[in-house]
Amino acid sequence: MSPRSVAVLGSTGSIGTQALDVIGRNRDRFTVAALSAGSNTSLLARQAVDFEVPLVALATGSADDLRRAIGAYAASLRRGSHALRGPAYAPEIVVGKEAAEAAARVGADVVLNGVTGSIGLRPTLAALAAGSVLALANKESLIIGGDLVTRAARPDQIIPVDSEHSAIAQSLRGGRAEEVRRLVVTASGGPFRGRSRAELADVTPEQALAHPNFSMGRVITTNSATLVNKGLEVIEAHLLFDIPFDRIDVVVHPQQQIHSMVEFRDGSTIAQLGPPRMLVPIALGLSWPERLDDIDVPCDWSMAQSWDFAPLDDEAFPAVRLARQVGEAGGTFPAVYNAANEVAVDAFHEGRIGFVDIVDAIARVVDAHTGRESDASTVEGVLDADAWAREQAAAELGL
Ligand code: NDP
Ligand code: MG
Repeated sequence: MSPRSVAVLGSTGSIGTQALDVIGRNRDRFTVAALSAGSNTSLLARQAVDFEVPLVALATGSADDLRRAIGAYAASLRRGSHALRGPAYAPEIVVGKEAAEAAARVGADVVLNGVTGSIGLRPTLAALAAGSVLALANKESLIIGGDLVTRAARPDQIIPVDSEHSAIAQSLRGGRAEEVRRLVVTASGGPFRGRSRAELADVTPEQALAHPNFSMGRVITTNSATLVNKGLEVIEAHLLFDIPFDRIDVVVHPQQQIHSMVEFRDGSTIAQLGPPRMLVPIALGLSWPERLDDIDVPCDWSMAQSWDFAPLDDEAFPAVRLARQVGEAGGTFPAVYNAANEVAVDAFHEGRIGFVDIVDAIARVVDAHTGRESDASTVEGVLDADAWAREQAAAELGL
């Protein structure tokens, strides 16, 4: 594989830092063309210097502060025992609301979108328009954009980074498209697996953030506890692989060693296995269709272990059933589901609402949506629906 240039959006987050870890271990394979973060100026500055990145983008903050942080860190490296860097390292700096889009637009071979939430939509579209391969962690942009995003992408331009969808993409190599019968998405069940709805009432934000297997950002960790993440992933699977919702199953598998599966027409099921970490799906997102060496440790078969599987409890965790409904409805419904969730998750962490209120609020906002409020075929229409749902959710929750 000749070296690929990569733009990392959300470089200071859980996905972004792991992507830079993979890139740092494979410097002969990758260069970093651009970085983009929200507000973490000091970490962004260190990353920029470490990878000598030509374009550095920050959503919230000051260009002068970023430039100073870059200068100070570069100078500290020159003073230390590290290899000398040319004093000339002075990247282009972009600050402001459109910074992530600017990073997405540089024409990198691969754009890894690792920002959180619906703010990832414009950068996703910018990366596709620039002709870059989109390594997609920011599932929200695909889910809310729907056809808008899938129509903007040429075949194989979007490589899923979400572990379940990476597993499905890997498993799909085991047969032809017309041989596929169903997709089976695995779910950890989250930290509250096995509880009834009544037993979820007193859950605290701290408990919701204690994911059994993965260490991730706040929104996705909360979404894993409510199962909203699995709901979003069912819609994501439908959009990525063009399989109808009634042929996408969810199975709870607490150990998260099987990341998802594909069932073929002959009754054979192919699964992808590995430790419950994101390194392999991130690396594959960057190097697809090739694999890199020694990205993570394989399963250890020298130890006795048992893996469990169980159906999802839709009564205690109605988020997946609701996601199927909004996915089937299409249009702006998925955007409304996602935006209402983002508002409710924030309110939950601020201590303003309870845990079960999150999905209840999404359901009420979805119910109030007619789908005629805005046009899902334009980015403005999708973001209008997103804004409408945020207001509606705030009103529903008395925020
Ligand atoms: P984090 O919260 O850890 O990171 C979010 C990143 O986005 C940070 O770098 C943050 O910057 C940046 N950011 C925030 N606002 C902006 C903005 N306006 N413009 C540009 N960047 C911004 O999230 P995760 O890494 O956990 O998740 C990222 C995405 O990947 C989500 O869509 C999630 O669903 C998906 N994903 C994550 C997995 C995981 O294991 N973490 C697994 C599968 C999917 P700053 O640090 O400065 O705030
Ligand atoms: Mg996932």
